[in-house]
Amino acid sequence: MSAEAPGERLPAWRGIIRHYGAFLPVSEATPLVTLNEGNTPLIEAPRLSERVGAEVFLKVEGANPTGSFKDRGMTLAISKAVEEGAKAVVCASTGNTSASAAAYAARAGLRCAVLIPDGYIAIGKLAQALVHGAQVVQVRGNFDEALRIVRDLADKAPVVVVNSVNPHRIDGQKTGAFEIVDALGDAPEVHCIPVGNAGNITAYWRGYCQYREAGLATRLPRMLGFQAAGAAPIVEGRVIDRPETVATAIRIGNPASWYGASAAARESGGAIAAVSDEEILAAYRFLAAEESVFCEPASAASVAGLLSVGVPTGSQVVCVLTGHGLKDPDVAISQVQVPGAVEAAFEPVLDALGL
Ligand SMILES: *Cc1c(COP(=O)(O)O)cnc(C)c1O
Repeated sequence: MSAEAPGERLPAWRGIIRHYGAFLPVSEATPLVTLNEGNTPLIEAPRLSERVGAEVFLKVEGANPTGSFKDRGMTLAISKAVEEGAKAVVCASTGNTSASAAAYAARAGLRCAVLIPDGYIAIGKLAQALVHGAQVVQVRGNFDEALRIVRDLADKAPVVVVNSVNPHRIDGQKTGAFEIVDALGDAPEVHCIPVGNAGNITAYWRGYCQYREAGLATRLPRMLGFQAAGAAPIVEGRVIDRPETVATAIRIGNPASWYGASAAARESGGAIAAVSDEEILAAYRFLAAEESVFCEPASAASVAGLLSVGVPTGSQVVCVLTGHGLKDPDVAISQVQVPGAVEAAFEPVLDALGL
């Protein structure tokens, strides 16, 4: 292959608000709080494509500044909070929202408080919230209970909630769909995505629809959303009181955007389905070993779902990989054999390698 244009100055990417501001509720008066999020890679997945008989692309959202798609919504939510004169923000989180809120709040000079389910947050995400200086409260309960407390706090204290019940979060997150269409030249035929609190599937569907209305896409994808089997309230049609799954980012029993997710599936001719933890972990290992993308377990639900439901031969498919694998090293290590140490000499190393 030939190089494209070495030495040529590339136009700088300066974040989703500057690039897609025409589709966002911002004005000259909106102060921009950005870490240049977005513009994430959309990469071909040759082995996955072969397995499912389709043309599959991976949208690698772990490449965002704090390692998950939450940054797309957070840049807008925090910018608007500053515009409205807020001094403090608060969220409940399975981990990535708190990591992102902590980083963007620090950038803006806002106080940030996060409520997380005690013992059910991946260690990388807890580290992020703490190093960025958020006040972290571990709640003896699950995400749904923490979110209820956060909503009460917002009614009684001068704080802005930056969960996806904040409409700016979903508006920022829809830019993921814009980027996919800009990269492919049109919308894909099928869009696969994990579903937890269901904000992201709602956001992508809005993004695809707005782009088509604007004449920037000619078609809309079928939206396939995947919940973990132990945390599948939309699939089962009932609130799950004690959701359980290895994919902690989607361990949610009463999604805030339940309606948005159902509407996306219905209006697009798609579906919300469940995948087991075994299927999620198999897809997680496959993505790392065969496609060289290290995502977190929840992200692999989109690929586990694609493998389980299948698509018509030759379809163009995008799977969103929502967060980076380094967020949750404990799960990664549990999925591999960690080798013991050998003596620091030539022969033992040769032996260990079987050479
Ligand atoms: C937040 C999150 C999800 C779930 O997204 P929702 O908008 O809550 O449905 C999935 N994967 C990762 C890595 C996340 O951080």
